[in-house]
Amino acid sequence: LNRRLAEFGTTIFAEMSALAARTGAINLGQGFPDTDGPEEIREAAVRALRDGRGNQYPPGPGVPELRSAIADHQRDRYGLDFDPDTEVLVTAGATEAIAAALLALVEPGDEVIALEPYYDSYAACVAMAGGTRVPVTLRPHDGSYVLDLDELRAAVTDRTRLILLNTPHNPTGTVLTRAELTAVAELAVERDLLVVTDEVYEHLVFDDAEHLPIASLPGMRERTVTIGSAGKTFSFTGWKVGWITASPELTSAVRSAKQFLTYVSSGPFQYAIAEALRLPATYFDTLRTELSAKRDLLSEGLAQAGFAVYKPAGTYFVTTDIRPLGAEDGFAFCRSLPERAGVVAIPNAVFYDHREAGAPFVRFAFCKKTEVLEEAVSRLKRLS
Ligand code: PMP
Ligand code: GLN
Repeated sequence: LNRRLAEFGTTIFAEMSALAARTGAINLGQGFPDTDGPEEIREAAVRALRDGRGNQYPPGPGVPELRSAIADHQRDRYGLDFDPDTEVLVTAGATEAIAAALLALVEPGDEVIALEPYYDSYAACVAMAGGTRVPVTLRPHDGSYVLDLDELRAAVTDRTRLILLNTPHNPTGTVLTRAELTAVAELAVERDLLVVTDEVYEHLVFDDAEHLPIASLPGMRERTVTIGSAGKTFSFTGWKVGWITASPELTSAVRSAKQFLTYVSSGPFQYAIAEALRLPATYFDTLRTELSAKRDLLSEGLAQAGFAVYKPAGTYFVTTDIRPLGAEDGFAFCRSLPERAGVVAIPNAVFYDHREAGAPFVRFAFCKKTEVLEEAVSRLKRLS
Protein backbone atom coordinates (compact mmCIF):
# COMPACT_ATOMS: atom_id res chain seq x y z
CA LEU A 1 0.00 0.00 0.00
CA ASN A 2 1.43 3.39 -0.93
CA ARG A 3 2.23 6.10 1.57
CA ARG A 4 -0.76 8.19 0.58
CA LEU A 5 -3.23 5.50 1.67
CA ALA A 6 -1.30 3.64 4.37
CA GLU A 7 -2.56 5.84 7.21
CA PHE A 8 -6.20 5.04 6.47
CA GLY A 9 -6.31 1.25 7.06
CA THR A 10 -9.75 -0.40 6.89
CA THR A 11 -12.81 1.86 7.11
CA ILE A 12 -14.41 1.98 10.51
CA PHE A 13 -17.74 0.99 8.91
CA ALA A 14 -16.39 -2.34 7.67
CA GLU A 15 -14.63 -2.95 10.99
CA MET A 16 -17.70 -2.22 13.08
CA SER A 17 -20.17 -4.11 10.85
CA ALA A 18 -17.82 -7.13 11.06
CA LEU A 19 -17.80 -6.76 14.85
CA ALA A 20 -21.62 -6.70 14.83
CA ALA A 21 -21.76 -9.82 12.66
CA ARG A 22 -19.22 -11.63 14.85
CA THR A 23 -20.92 -10.81 18.14
CA GLY A 24 -24.56 -10.78 17.02
CA ALA A 25 -24.88 -7.27 18.50
CA ILE A 26 -27.46 -4.76 17.22
CA ASN A 27 -25.67 -2.75 14.55
CA LEU A 28 -26.25 0.96 15.09
CA GLY A 29 -22.80 1.64 13.59
CA GLN A 30 -22.70 1.74 9.80
CA GLY A 31 -25.45 3.95 8.45
CA PHE A 32 -27.82 1.82 6.39
CA PRO A 33 -31.55 1.28 6.83
CA ASP A 34 -32.83 -2.16 7.92
CA THR A 35 -35.89 -1.70 5.69
CA ASP A 36 -35.53 -1.41 1.92
CA GLY A 37 -36.95 1.51 -0.06
CA PRO A 38 -40.37 1.59 -1.78
CA GLU A 39 -41.70 -1.59 -3.37
CA GLU A 40 -42.77 0.28 -6.52
CA ILE A 41 -39.19 1.46 -7.03
CA ARG A 42 -37.85 -2.07 -6.58
CA GLU A 43 -40.43 -3.14 -9.18
CA ALA A 44 -39.20 -0.37 -11.49
CA ALA A 45 -35.67 -1.84 -11.23
CA VAL A 46 -37.00 -5.32 -12.02
CA ARG A 47 -38.87 -3.93 -15.01
CA ALA A 48 -35.71 -2.22 -16.30
CA LEU A 49 -33.77 -5.47 -15.94
CA ARG A 50 -36.48 -7.46 -17.71
CA ASP A 51 -36.97 -4.94 -20.50
CA GLY A 52 -33.26 -4.78 -21.18
CA ARG A 53 -32.79 -1.19 -20.06
CA GLY A 54 -29.34 -0.63 -18.57
CA ASN A 55 -28.07 -4.19 -18.80
CA GLN A 56 -25.24 -2.95 -21.02
CA TYR A 57 -23.03 0.10 -20.39
CA PRO A 58 -25.32 3.09 -19.88
CA PRO A 59 -24.22 6.47 -21.34
CA GLY A 60 -21.19 8.01 -19.60
CA PRO A 61 -23.03 10.93 -17.99
CA GLY A 62 -25.93 8.71 -16.86
CA VAL A 63 -29.19 7.68 -18.55
CA PRO A 64 -31.20 10.70 -19.87
CA GLU A 65 -34.28 9.74 -17.78
CA LEU A 66 -32.28 10.01 -14.55
CA ARG A 67 -30.42 13.16 -15.53
CA SER A 68 -33.64 14.97 -16.29
CA ALA A 69 -35.23 13.70 -13.06
CA ILE A 70 -32.23 15.08 -11.12
CA ALA A 71 -32.44 18.44 -12.91
CA ASP A 72 -36.20 18.62 -12.21
CA HIS A 73 -35.63 17.74 -8.56
CA GLN A 74 -33.08 20.56 -8.13
CA ARG A 75 -35.39 23.04 -9.87
CA ASP A 76 -38.65 22.07 -8.16
CA ARG A 77 -37.13 21.85 -4.71
CA TYR A 78 -34.51 24.57 -4.69
CA GLY A 79 -35.15 26.75 -7.75
CA LEU A 80 -31.78 25.67 -9.18
CA ASP A 81 -31.74 25.26 -12.96
CA PHE A 82 -29.30 22.71 -14.38
CA ASP A 83 -29.10 21.51 -17.96
CA PRO A 84 -29.50 17.72 -17.79
CA ASP A 85 -27.15 17.29 -20.74
CA THR A 86 -24.19 19.37 -19.59
CA GLU A 87 -24.65 20.04 -15.88
CA VAL A 88 -25.64 16.68 -14.38
CA LEU A 89 -23.43 13.61 -13.96
CA VAL A 90 -24.53 10.27 -12.50
CA THR A 91 -21.91 8.53 -10.32
CA ALA A 92 -21.42 5.25 -8.47
CA GLY A 93 -22.90 6.63 -5.27
CA ALA A 94 -21.84 9.85 -3.59
CA THR A 95 -18.60 8.06 -2.74
CA GLU A 96 -17.47 8.15 -6.35
CA ALA A 97 -18.73 11.70 -6.77
CA ILE A 98 -16.51 12.82 -3.87
CA ALA A 99 -13.50 10.93 -5.24
CA ALA A 100 -13.96 12.12 -8.82
CA ALA A 101 -14.53 15.74 -7.77
CA LEU A 102 -11.38 15.81 -5.64
CA LEU A 103 -9.25 13.93 -8.20
CA ALA A 104 -10.44 16.29 -10.93
CA LEU A 105 -10.15 19.59 -9.09
CA VAL A 106 -7.23 19.31 -6.67
CA GLU A 107 -3.61 19.77 -7.79
CA PRO A 108 -0.84 18.14 -5.74
CA GLY A 109 -0.03 20.53 -2.90
CA ASP A 110 -3.43 22.25 -2.92
CA GLU A 111 -5.15 22.66 0.42
CA VAL A 112 -8.69 21.40 0.94
CA ILE A 113 -10.67 22.71 3.90
CA ALA A 114 -13.11 20.21 5.44
CA LEU A 115 -15.39 20.57 8.43
CA GLU A 116 -14.17 18.26 11.17
CA PRO A 117 -15.52 15.72 12.14
CA TYR A 118 -15.72 14.72 8.46
CA TYR A 119 -16.94 11.64 6.61
CA ASP A 120 -14.00 9.25 6.37
CA SER A 121 -13.67 9.10 2.59
CA TYR A 122 -12.88 12.85 2.40
CA ALA A 123 -9.43 12.50 3.94
CA ALA A 124 -8.54 9.45 1.84
CA CYS A 125 -9.68 11.12 -1.39
CA VAL A 126 -7.84 14.37 -0.64
CA ALA A 127 -4.74 12.21 -0.06
CA MET A 128 -5.24 10.24 -3.29
CA ALA A 129 -5.48 13.56 -5.13
CA GLY A 130 -2.17 14.62 -3.56
CA GLY A 131 -3.82 17.47 -1.66
CA THR A 132 -3.43 18.54 1.95
CA ARG A 133 -6.47 18.49 4.19
CA VAL A 134 -7.05 21.43 6.49
CA PRO A 135 -9.68 20.60 9.10
CA VAL A 136 -11.88 23.27 10.65
CA THR A 137 -13.44 21.82 13.78
CA LEU A 138 -17.16 22.09 14.52
CA ARG A 139 -17.38 22.86 18.23
CA PRO A 140 -19.93 21.34 20.62
CA HIS A 141 -21.93 24.16 22.12
CA ASP A 142 -25.19 24.11 24.06
CA GLY A 143 -26.29 20.68 22.84
CA SER A 144 -25.36 21.18 19.19
CA TYR A 145 -22.31 21.76 17.00
CA VAL A 146 -21.39 25.14 15.57
CA LEU A 147 -19.06 26.34 12.85
CA ASP A 148 -16.63 29.05 13.98
CA LEU A 149 -16.61 31.37 10.98
CA ASP A 150 -13.45 33.17 12.13
CA GLU A 151 -11.67 29.85 12.30
CA LEU A 152 -12.87 29.01 8.81
CA ARG A 153 -11.69 32.36 7.49
CA ALA A 154 -8.30 31.92 9.16
CA ALA A 155 -7.88 28.49 7.57
CA VAL A 156 -7.85 29.93 4.03
CA THR A 157 -4.35 30.43 2.58
CA ASP A 158 -2.93 31.12 -0.87
CA ARG A 159 -2.83 27.35 -1.38
CA THR A 160 -6.50 26.75 -0.61
CA ARG A 161 -8.27 25.28 -3.61
CA LEU A 162 -11.63 24.31 -2.25
CA ILE A 163 -13.92 23.98 0.73
CA LEU A 164 -15.52 20.57 1.20
CA LEU A 165 -18.86 21.01 2.94
CA ASN A 166 -21.33 18.48 4.26
CA THR A 167 -24.83 19.52 5.27
CA PRO A 168 -26.86 17.91 6.83
CA HIS A 169 -23.68 16.82 8.56
CA ASN A 170 -22.52 13.28 9.28
CA PRO A 171 -21.80 12.45 12.14
CA THR A 172 -23.07 15.42 14.20
CA GLY A 173 -26.52 15.86 12.62
CA THR A 174 -25.88 19.59 12.24
CA VAL A 175 -27.75 21.40 9.46
CA LEU A 176 -25.83 24.52 8.43
CA THR A 177 -27.97 27.65 8.68
CA ARG A 178 -28.55 30.24 6.01
CA ALA A 179 -26.29 32.64 7.93
CA GLU A 180 -23.45 30.10 8.12
CA LEU A 181 -23.77 29.15 4.46
CA THR A 182 -23.91 32.79 3.44
CA ALA A 183 -20.65 33.43 5.28
CA VAL A 184 -19.02 30.40 3.60
CA ALA A 185 -20.27 31.59 0.22
CA GLU A 186 -18.94 35.12 0.76
CA LEU A 187 -15.57 33.71 1.72
CA ALA A 188 -15.50 31.44 -1.34
CA VAL A 189 -16.31 34.35 -3.65
CA GLU A 190 -13.83 36.69 -1.96
CA ARG A 191 -10.94 34.18 -2.10
CA ASP A 192 -12.01 32.62 -5.39
CA LEU A 193 -12.46 29.11 -3.99
CA LEU A 194 -14.45 26.17 -5.26
CA VAL A 195 -16.97 24.46 -2.99
CA VAL A 196 -17.73 20.75 -3.13
CA THR A 197 -20.85 20.15 -1.06
CA ASP A 198 -22.01 16.72 0.06
CA GLU A 199 -25.78 16.95 0.46
CA VAL A 200 -26.66 13.26 0.57
CA TYR A 201 -28.88 13.82 3.64
CA GLU A 202 -30.77 16.73 2.01
CA HIS A 203 -34.18 15.11 2.63
CA LEU A 204 -33.46 14.01 6.20
CA VAL A 205 -34.10 17.20 8.17
CA PHE A 206 -36.33 17.51 11.22
CA ASP A 207 -38.49 20.02 13.09
CA ASP A 208 -37.96 23.48 11.67
CA ALA A 209 -34.51 22.79 10.19
CA GLU A 210 -34.29 23.51 6.48
CA HIS A 211 -31.76 22.23 4.00
CA LEU A 212 -30.31 25.01 1.87
CA PRO A 213 -27.99 24.13 -1.04
CA ILE A 214 -25.05 26.55 -1.05
CA ALA A 215 -25.23 26.54 -4.87
CA SER A 216 -28.38 28.66 -4.56
CA LEU A 217 -26.54 31.57 -2.89
CA PRO A 218 -25.18 34.55 -4.88
CA GLY A 219 -22.00 33.85 -6.81
CA MET A 220 -22.03 30.15 -5.94
CA ARG A 221 -23.68 28.36 -8.82
CA GLU A 222 -20.58 28.56 -11.01
CA ARG A 223 -18.12 27.55 -8.28
CA THR A 224 -20.01 24.71 -6.59
CA VAL A 225 -20.18 20.97 -7.16
CA THR A 226 -23.30 19.64 -5.39
CA ILE A 227 -23.41 15.93 -4.54
CA GLY A 228 -26.56 13.85 -3.98
CA SER A 229 -27.33 10.16 -3.46
CA ALA A 230 -30.29 7.83 -3.82
CA GLY A 231 -28.86 5.63 -1.07
CA LYS A 232 -30.08 7.87 1.74
CA THR A 233 -33.19 9.42 0.22
CA PHE A 234 -34.69 6.17 -1.02
CA SER A 235 -33.12 3.59 1.32
CA PHE A 236 -31.20 1.77 -1.39
CA THR A 237 -27.60 2.08 -0.19
CA GLY A 238 -26.62 -1.05 -2.14
CA TRP A 239 -27.64 0.36 -5.51
CA LYS A 240 -24.89 2.99 -5.49
CA VAL A 241 -26.67 5.64 -7.49
CA GLY A 242 -25.30 9.12 -6.82
CA TRP A 243 -24.88 12.31 -8.82
CA ILE A 244 -23.44 15.77 -9.09
CA THR A 245 -24.92 18.99 -10.40
CA ALA A 246 -22.51 21.78 -11.39
CA SER A 247 -21.58 24.20 -14.19
CA PRO A 248 -20.67 22.62 -17.56
CA GLU A 249 -16.94 23.23 -16.89
CA LEU A 250 -16.99 21.61 -13.44
CA THR A 251 -19.24 18.75 -14.56
CA SER A 252 -16.93 18.02 -17.45
CA ALA A 253 -13.89 18.09 -15.14
CA VAL A 254 -15.50 15.65 -12.70
CA ARG A 255 -16.50 13.42 -15.59
CA SER A 256 -12.89 13.33 -16.80
CA ALA A 257 -11.94 11.61 -13.53
CA LYS A 258 -15.13 9.51 -13.29
CA GLN A 259 -14.62 7.93 -16.72
CA PHE A 260 -11.42 6.27 -15.48
CA LEU A 261 -12.79 5.26 -12.08
CA THR A 262 -15.92 3.28 -12.99
CA TYR A 263 -16.71 4.59 -16.48
CA VAL A 264 -20.40 3.91 -15.72
CA SER A 265 -22.43 2.03 -13.10
CA SER A 266 -25.83 0.86 -11.83
CA GLY A 267 -27.51 0.58 -15.29
CA PRO A 268 -31.04 -0.69 -14.46
CA PHE A 269 -31.05 1.05 -11.07
CA GLN A 270 -30.62 4.41 -12.75
CA TYR A 271 -34.03 3.98 -14.43
CA ALA A 272 -35.62 3.05 -11.13
CA ILE A 273 -34.14 6.07 -9.33
CA ALA A 274 -35.41 8.31 -12.13
CA GLU A 275 -38.89 7.17 -11.05
CA ALA A 276 -38.05 7.53 -7.36
CA LEU A 277 -37.10 11.19 -7.74
CA ARG A 278 -40.59 11.79 -9.11
CA LEU A 279 -42.40 10.20 -6.14
CA PRO A 280 -45.07 12.49 -4.65
CA ALA A 281 -44.27 14.81 -1.74
CA THR A 282 -45.98 12.36 0.63
CA TYR A 283 -43.06 9.93 0.18
CA PHE A 284 -40.52 12.50 1.35
CA ASP A 285 -42.78 13.75 4.16
CA THR A 286 -43.38 10.24 5.47
CA LEU A 287 -39.65 9.45 5.39
CA ARG A 288 -38.97 12.55 7.46
CA THR A 289 -41.82 11.96 9.91
CA GLU A 290 -40.87 8.36 10.54
CA LEU A 291 -37.19 9.13 10.96
CA SER A 292 -37.92 12.04 13.23
CA ALA A 293 -39.89 9.73 15.58
CA LYS A 294 -36.95 7.30 15.56
CA ARG A 295 -34.56 10.13 16.28
CA ASP A 296 -36.64 11.04 19.33
CA LEU A 297 -36.86 7.44 20.49
CA LEU A 298 -33.10 6.87 20.28
CA SER A 299 -32.07 10.32 21.56
CA GLU A 300 -34.34 10.05 24.59
CA GLY A 301 -33.30 6.44 25.22
CA LEU A 302 -29.62 7.32 25.07
CA ALA A 303 -30.16 10.22 27.47
CA GLN A 304 -31.96 7.88 29.90
CA ALA A 305 -29.07 5.43 29.55
CA GLY A 306 -26.74 8.17 30.79
CA PHE A 307 -25.22 9.56 27.58
CA ALA A 308 -25.07 13.29 26.88
CA VAL A 309 -26.93 13.60 23.58
CA TYR A 310 -26.49 16.07 20.70
CA LYS A 311 -29.96 15.89 19.26
CA PRO A 312 -29.56 16.00 15.47
CA ALA A 313 -31.42 18.46 13.23
CA GLY A 314 -30.72 16.21 10.24
CA THR A 315 -29.22 12.88 8.97
CA TYR A 316 -29.95 9.52 10.61
CA PHE A 317 -27.19 9.73 13.18
CA VAL A 318 -27.05 10.90 16.75
CA THR A 319 -23.76 11.89 18.36
CA THR A 320 -23.33 11.33 22.09
CA ASP A 321 -20.74 12.18 24.71
CA ILE A 322 -19.75 9.18 26.84
CA ARG A 323 -18.13 11.12 29.67
CA PRO A 324 -21.25 11.11 31.89
CA LEU A 325 -20.90 7.30 31.83
CA GLY A 326 -17.39 7.59 33.24
CA ALA A 327 -15.70 6.75 29.91
CA GLU A 328 -13.41 8.95 27.82
CA ASP A 329 -12.08 6.90 24.94
CA GLY A 330 -14.72 6.33 22.26
CA PHE A 331 -12.62 3.68 20.51
CA ALA A 332 -12.27 1.53 23.60
CA PHE A 333 -15.93 2.16 24.45
CA CYS A 334 -17.14 1.02 20.99
CA ARG A 335 -14.87 -2.02 20.94
CA SER A 336 -16.25 -3.23 24.28
CA LEU A 337 -19.87 -2.18 23.71
CA PRO A 338 -20.98 -5.42 21.98
CA GLU A 339 -19.84 -7.43 24.98
CA ARG A 340 -21.12 -4.97 27.57
CA ALA A 341 -24.46 -4.13 25.96
CA GLY A 342 -24.92 -6.04 22.71
CA VAL A 343 -24.85 -2.87 20.59
CA VAL A 344 -22.40 -1.56 17.96
CA ALA A 345 -21.67 2.15 17.49
CA ILE A 346 -19.01 4.27 15.77
CA PRO A 347 -16.28 6.25 17.61
CA ASN A 348 -16.37 9.80 16.20
CA ALA A 349 -12.58 10.11 16.68
CA VAL A 350 -12.14 8.41 13.29
CA PHE A 351 -13.70 11.50 11.71
CA TYR A 352 -11.09 13.85 13.22
CA ASP A 353 -7.50 14.85 12.52
CA HIS A 354 -7.43 16.21 16.05
CA ARG A 355 -8.33 12.81 17.45
CA GLU A 356 -8.32 14.10 21.01
CA ALA A 357 -11.08 16.58 20.11
CA GLY A 358 -13.28 13.67 19.03
CA ALA A 359 -12.25 11.13 21.67
CA PRO A 360 -15.32 11.13 23.95
CA PHE A 361 -17.94 11.15 21.19
CA VAL A 362 -19.79 8.13 19.83
CA ARG A 363 -22.29 7.96 16.97
CA PHE A 364 -25.45 5.81 16.81
CA ALA A 365 -27.59 5.32 13.66
CA PHE A 366 -31.39 5.41 14.01
CA CYS A 367 -32.40 4.27 10.49
CA LYS A 368 -33.63 1.02 12.04
CA LYS A 369 -36.99 -0.56 12.89
CA THR A 370 -38.67 0.86 15.98
CA GLU A 371 -38.49 -2.47 17.83
CA VAL A 372 -34.76 -2.72 17.07
CA LEU A 373 -34.17 0.76 18.50
CA GLU A 374 -36.29 -0.08 21.56
CA GLU A 375 -34.27 -3.23 22.19
CA ALA A 376 -30.99 -1.33 21.73
CA VAL A 377 -32.12 1.30 24.23
CA SER A 378 -33.13 -1.28 26.81
CA ARG A 379 -29.72 -2.94 26.45
CA LEU A 380 -27.84 0.35 26.68
CA LYS A 381 -29.66 1.21 29.91
CA ARG A 382 -27.71 -1.64 31.53
CA LEU A 383 -24.56 0.46 31.20
CA SER A 384 -25.37 2.93 33.95
N1 PMP B 1 -21.29 11.27 2.17
C1 PMP B 1 -21.75 11.10 3.41
C2 PMP B 1 -21.73 12.25 4.36
C3 PMP B 1 -22.21 9.85 3.80
O1 PMP B 1 -22.64 9.67 5.05
C4 PMP B 1 -22.21 8.78 2.88
C5 PMP B 1 -22.69 7.41 3.18
N2 PMP B 1 -23.10 7.00 4.18
C6 PMP B 1 -21.72 9.02 1.61
C7 PMP B 1 -21.28 10.27 1.28
C8 PMP B 1 -21.67 7.93 0.58
O2 PMP B 1 -22.83 7.81 -0.13
P1 PMP B 1 -23.08 6.64 -1.19
O3 PMP B 1 -23.52 5.47 -0.43
O4 PMP B 1 -24.10 7.20 -2.11
O5 PMP B 1 -21.78 6.38 -1.89
N1 GLN C 1 -22.04 6.63 5.16
C1 GLN C 1 -22.35 5.52 6.03
C2 GLN C 1 -22.04 5.95 7.45
O1 GLN C 1 -21.61 7.03 7.68
C3 GLN C 1 -21.55 4.30 5.71
C4 GLN C 1 -21.05 4.18 4.33
C5 GLN C 1 -19.91 3.21 4.23
O2 GLN C 1 -19.94 2.15 4.82
N2 GLN C 1 -18.91 3.58 3.51
O3 GLN C 1 -22.22 5.17 8.31
